[in-house]
Amino acid sequence: MADNLVLGPELISYIREVSLRDDEILRELREETAELPAGKAMQVAAEEGQFLALLVGLTGARSVLEIGTFTGYSTLCMARAVASGGTVVTCDISNKWPMIAADYWKRAGVAERIDVRIGDATETLAKILTDQGAGSVDFVFIDADKVNYSSYYSAAFQLVRPGGLIVVDNTLFFGRVIDQDAQDRDTVAIREFNAMLRDDERVDISVLPFADGVTLIRKKS
Ligand code: CA
Repeated sequence: MADNLVLGPELISYIREVSLRDDEILRELREETAELPAGKAMQVAAEEGQFLALLVGLTGARSVLEIGTFTGYSTLCMARAVASGGTVVTCDISNKWPMIAADYWKRAGVAERIDVRIGDATETLAKILTDQGAGSVDFVFIDADKVNYSSYYSAAFQLVRPGGLIVVDNTLFFGRVIDQDAQDRDTVAIREFNAMLRDDERVDISVLPFADGVTLIRKKS
């Protein structure tokens, strides 16, 4: 059995060279985001955006829910991939960063498929549950404040249909999950979330050592 590769910058460059399907809109949005404070850390990697689009296409999702819009890069990737007539509902606490995204979404021709909900995500998710009902969503991407991951997951679990997919970002959190000196709220919350998920028998899971750790969760049928 081959052990897992340690990915250094050269291999990551190689992966991008042989697999990234990039374009001007994506590139410009990444560049504008990288200029923002914490932009580089909060932006999903280009290959991760492409991976999310692949998953949305693979699952044939029509109803996609994103928790954490930021500058809308992952939103754009997923909106391009939703099935015909599909929508991406994306939640963020403030309109400050999603506002940057609007122009890129328009240029990409997907603005009509995207529904931005500004406010506390816990409240937004509760409202979606009331309005649309349990099991009304095909695909959820969670990439927001880490201390609320477990609560977002509980809401996402109710909203996603049996057989649907929940994707969670940053589950290895810069490798801090295994650093015992890292006791900040975010790292502790991610560790608790990962441990909770391991024991949740209602779902099938896989933790991918990809980007900053991406966990795939399938609600059992
Ligand atoms: Ca992230």
